[in-house]
Amino acid sequence: MDPRALRRDFPVFEAHPDLVFLDSAASAQKPRSVIEALARFYQTAYANVHRGSYPLSEAATEAFEAARATLAGFLGTPDPDEVVFVRNATEGMNLLAHALGERYLGEGDTVLVTEMEHHANLVPWQQAARRKGARIRAVPITDQGRLDLAALDRLLGEEPRIFAFTQMSNVLGTVNPVAELAERAHRAGAIVVVDGAQGAPHLPVNVRALGADFYVTSGHKMLGPTGASALWGRRELWQELPPFLTGGGMIERVTIEESTFAPPPTRFEAGTPAFAEAVGLAAAAEYLIGVGMDRVWRHDRELTRRALAALSEVPDLRVFGPQGEDRGGVVSFAFPGVHAHDLATFLGQKGVAVRSGHHCAQPLHRRLGVAATTRASFYLYNTEEEVDRLAAVLHEARRFFASWIE
Ligand code: PLP
Repeated sequence: MDPRALRRDFPVFEAHPDLVFLDSAASAQKPRSVIEALARFYQTAYANVHRGSYPLSEAATEAFEAARATLAGFLGTPDPDEVVFVRNATEGMNLLAHALGERYLGEGDTVLVTEMEHHANLVPWQQAARRKGARIRAVPITDQGRLDLAALDRLLGEEPRIFAFTQMSNVLGTVNPVAELAERAHRAGAIVVVDGAQGAPHLPVNVRALGADFYVTSGHKMLGPTGASALWGRRELWQELPPFLTGGGMIERVTIEESTFAPPPTRFEAGTPAFAEAVGLAAAAEYLIGVGMDRVWRHDRELTRRALAALSEVPDLRVFGPQGEDRGGVVSFAFPGVHAHDLATFLGQKGVAVRSGHHCAQPLHRRLGVAATTRASFYLYNTEEEVDRLAAVLHEARRFFASWIE
């Protein structure tokens, strides 16, 4: 895979030729094919879906349903109706926490999460647990930044109804052994929800082989437009769940007093869906399939290995996360005594775009003993030279902030 050739597919790098963009874990840049698919749809094929009986609307409906099939294929399921379109991973988690909470949670039940979760995979469960009188428990992490699997056994002994965990940490880069975790959780009787917001853009995913019951993605992190993401679930589980949002489009029959609901996936897509963005997301999935997810994954890991080696040479820099093969293209770091935002601003002024803060993972940062970190994240369009540039600017930052470093 040649990232220099791939970069030519991304117009943003023509507009900003010197930009070292290391913030794809927040949101990825878009290839021309995605931008063009979106523009073409708006210019030539736009009409509301599932409503009109005229040819333009029927063709738009076909394009929307074809997008669903493409996303199903990308996630490794033959059944397009197992894919629900939501706005983003956060909405996907809220949908699941609401619907699974209503259906399965009761007084005294447990929802199991982990200490490395993004707030999107924590706060919705807290709300569901509060409504139902359930409680939240979290699998702790080890000092190396991996899940503590001995503690997992103990926590699964409490027979949680739901186990929701991330495939890849957005702070530590840790890739969790999803298939093993899912199998253990199923043996304990839990429903398995996987947060694939950082997984799906970077790893080959086959939801059935992973053994998940639900798998949440974030479209804008996998080269798609904002506003459309695929949420996958097992057909038999979708069928049992009540809706999240209600109103037009998701019903079967409505009287003044009550309503019956359409079968999935329509039941979970109230109102006009983001169908143009779904078509754009399908173009993103096709682009990734064309490159090959194995190659994307290998490239991310090579850049990560290079970054970990280079950053270990920067004096005083604390680098977080495991050192082994089980990590993807996210590297968070801090100089003790230097605020993460100051470091990110310094890097930004040198043309290196990174993110700083708690990355929506406050419990994890508390566990790491820092208020905030600065994070570089890599994707298919990043090069080895960009990783070297990051390291070089961090050496400069070390000299610049020397008097602050504790
Ligand atoms: N889960 C993880 C692990 C994330 O990194 C993010 C975004 O940073 C989310 C969930 C939320 O994604 P979205 O922006 O699509 O709601």
